[in-house]
Amino acid sequence: MHYNGWVRSSVYVHFPYCLKKCPYCDFVSYKADRAEIDHAGYADAVIAELGRRMAGEGPRTADGGPIGSIFFGGGTPSLWEPREIARVLDAARRTLVLADDVEITVECNPTSLDRDRAAALLAAGVNRLSIGAQSLRDGELAFLGRLHDPAGALRAIEGALATGVRVSADLIYGLPDQSPEDAARQADQLAALGLAHVSAYQLTIEEGTLFGELRRRGRLPMADDARVAEAFVLVEEALASRGLAHYEISNFARPGEEARHNLGYWRGEPYLGVGCGAYGFQRIGPGGRRWRNELDPARYMHTARSGADTTISSEDLDGDALLRERIMLGLRLAGGLDLDEAGRDLALDPWPARRVKAADALAARGRLVRDGGQVRIPHDAWLFTDDTASRLF
Ligand code: SF4
Repeated sequence: MHYNGWVRSSVYVHFPYCLKKCPYCDFVSYKADRAEIDHAGYADAVIAELGRRMAGEGPRTADGGPIGSIFFGGGTPSLWEPREIARVLDAARRTLVLADDVEITVECNPTSLDRDRAAALLAAGVNRLSIGAQSLRDGELAFLGRLHDPAGALRAIEGALATGVRVSADLIYGLPDQSPEDAARQADQLAALGLAHVSAYQLTIEEGTLFGELRRRGRLPMADDARVAEAFVLVEEALASRGLAHYEISNFARPGEEARHNLGYWRGEPYLGVGCGAYGFQRIGPGGRRWRNELDPARYMHTARSGADTTISSEDLDGDALLRERIMLGLRLAGGLDLDEAGRDLALDPWPARRVKAADALAARGRLVRDGGQVRIPHDAWLFTDDTASRLF
């Protein structure tokens, strides 16, 4: 795909509230009960920002191409009143050109999703729900600080599936005391519900989270690396046996059910980010610019609704920087990426001598497959993806 100026492929809407802050979470999310949230006021702010960014007043505006995906992430956007999500979608339809088959996803937690709410989201125009089940074991959900129990997770997924909407569920593996076999059993249990998409993430401990602090003090139980690696393989086998292909390191789908929104990120496509704490990315010539929005919800709402710019920081990236990002993200995909095409798009030579040498060395060790300009990581070397990518920088 060739990017021309401001063309963007997707919209990301951040909703910054959750019923509780999970101890491993480093997303922009603040604890709030549903009744405390200014549902309409937040929608007004998002709509105002969308209008401003598209109207030419702010520094990140665009003429817009057809939008293939709108993603409501968080936080917990399933806490947001569906009628307010509908208002945001109406504004998006008025402001942007949406593709006929636009994918519209809402991230959900089991504590704020049942069949009625799934149906209300569907009526609002949403056509995909991504549900944070995370685990189907009581002890693991307690360790992760989640508010739901396994039955609640299953109920939310079954309720969503009953509406006919596309449904994905998230699973976290690599927990201390979790056997690889049980991680696989849980993946199987989820897929057996009839899901066409499952995301299985390895638990990562981030600085600035409660788990990060506990680890620093040596008080966080950690999983054994070898067992985590085994879980990666067994989860994949379990999902493959249910017809879900491993198309990205942490994602599995039936053919055609891949998450379009995330594919855009992994391919380095531009996206318009709106909402408190959202990132956005736009192409400018052969380079690009990434920006970030105000992190405080009250300040964000005040600024956006007054028509002012909500950006708090931005960074210009040249073609080399964008190519490194594309390598890092593109190699997460089973099909890898086409470096020749990336070079044309970013107006640079993607094969300087040092990269050819690194690619040859990696290929000789079975870490990389190169077919013309296409590079990908063979299946059995996926666990080394970050290291492989950095050697290609
Ligand atoms: S529900 Fe999700 S976004 Fe909210 S605190 Fe937990 S991990 Fe973070």
